[in-house]
Amino acid sequence: VTTLDPGLMAGRRAGPAGELRNYVGGRFVSGEGFFEKASPVTGEVIWRVAEAGASTVDAAVTAARAALRGPWGRTGEQERAAVLRRIAAELERRFDDLVTAEVADTGKSITQARTLDIPRGAANFRAFADIIAATPGETFTTVTPAGGRALNYTVRKPAGVVAIVVPWNLPLLLLTWKVAPALACGNAVVVKPSEETPGSATLLAEVMAAAGVPDGVFNLVHGFGPGSAGEHLTRHPGVDAITFTGESATGSAIMRAAADGVKAVSFELGGKNAGVVFADADLDAAVEGSVRSSFTNGGQVCLCTERLYVQRPVFEEFTERLARRAAELSFGWPADEAAVMMPMISAAHREKVLGHYRLAREEGAQVLTGGDVPVFGDARDGGAYVRPTVLTGLGPDARTNREEIFGPVCHIAPFDDADEAFALANDSQYGLAATVWTRDLTTAHQAGRVLDAGLVWVNTWFVRDLRTPFGGVKASGVGREGGTHSLAFYSELTNVCVDL
Ligand code: NAD
Repeated sequence: VTTLDPGLMAGRRAGPAGELRNYVGGRFVSGEGFFEKASPVTGEVIWRVAEAGASTVDAAVTAARAALRGPWGRTGEQERAAVLRRIAAELERRFDDLVTAEVADTGKSITQARTLDIPRGAANFRAFADIIAATPGETFTTVTPAGGRALNYTVRKPAGVVAIVVPWNLPLLLLTWKVAPALACGNAVVVKPSEETPGSATLLAEVMAAAGVPDGVFNLVHGFGPGSAGEHLTRHPGVDAITFTGESATGSAIMRAAADGVKAVSFELGGKNAGVVFADADLDAAVEGSVRSSFTNGGQVCLCTERLYVQRPVFEEFTERLARRAAELSFGWPADEAAVMMPMISAAHREKVLGHYRLAREEGAQVLTGGDVPVFGDARDGGAYVRPTVLTGLGPDARTNREEIFGPVCHIAPFDDADEAFALANDSQYGLAATVWTRDLTTAHQAGRVLDAGLVWVNTWFVRDLRTPFGGVKASGVGREGGTHSLAFYSELTNVCVDL
């Protein structure tokens, strides 16, 4: 089944509206209704998507449970590692289709989809194939009360039926970051991609079929959150564990839904990430790094920097240079390889970001660049673009400095010493990532110890090793995924104790 029109490229050719369906028990099925997905580049409808209601979600959970009782439930770790490698190879074979789907749904540049989003999809499967194949169990020899010996050892078992609910910003990357370890551990999954990005997830279902993943091991339901596929799935009594990436407020709604069944949850949530630039930093690297950390993917990465603190001696120079670089970032069509800026994911999200631009002005911010929408004089004027925006002049209590905006915007404030900088960075309900620019080793290592963040980058940003723990503190998440931390969430360990 090919569900996508591979010639479709948002903004170049709207193409015939394709139809995307749910994938349940190894079959593409319609649902209880349909919704339309519009291109963020032009506003034109690009897909008609089958929405899963309660009964389609129930069928998906039932199919997953049945798969666990079948041969999949008896596979060994090496066998599953081989399946994951086949999935990675098939993803690479479908590379161009996946790029097309990702670009059509998000309007991101084709260069980014080719170099980040889609390669990371395949890399996630390879990484977890390696990790599951190489992770040993635990054994202990124990002295018993009678003076004898007992052998304790662990058996790793799947958590069961895992619900995977993900957002729209890095669709395939974030989805496979969870599907790969879930399958490595022998689970069956029901995935709910964002209603804004149904394309690459639908292709992933085709990839699963082509890679020989048994029916029911991977199921896909399309739809929204409340009252739709997302809520039906997270409330379903047949789901054993829920892994979610998205907004903190949605995490709290899902946690309430999970409470009734006492289900395990893993949450990767929102952020209001700080960047700290010390006067001794390589300023060229700090400016270019901050351009990337604030504006990559239109600022729509959970790890993006929205608050910058710059040491007073370099504050003016840094601020002026960052604003100039932000103003230069080029808008193209997604198919232009040199395009940097992409649209917001939807008209509604653009309204939210523009609302924050207005709020910043009302709060008294100086707008150094941006704060409005670009005018193209072509079909992109129907899209969801905003200009990259650099602000200054607000205090730490301004809503602009407290609320996650999730757009191409940062506020820059000065500081005098490291203690002040780290206190400002920590003054947030969130704690996902922080970035520090300095040449001083002591300051760099101190940052890692004192910053309230799950990830601290020094003199770089968004360098990821898939074996490392990933997650946030405070309102930015619950638990860690990555490497063996993912295995801890996606499996249950049984300890066996044998009297010798
Ligand atoms: P969102 O929370 O609105 O939606 C995420 C997913 O949850 C979507 O699939 C949505 O349909 C579903 N959903 C919404 N309400 C639900 C409910 N009540 N029950 C079940 N499912 C529900 O987030 P978004 O707007 O898609 O993504 C942006 C957010 O994601 C930002 O806050 C960003 O910081 C965060 N994010 C975090 C990470 C991370 O790793 N920490 C990564 C990427 C994005």
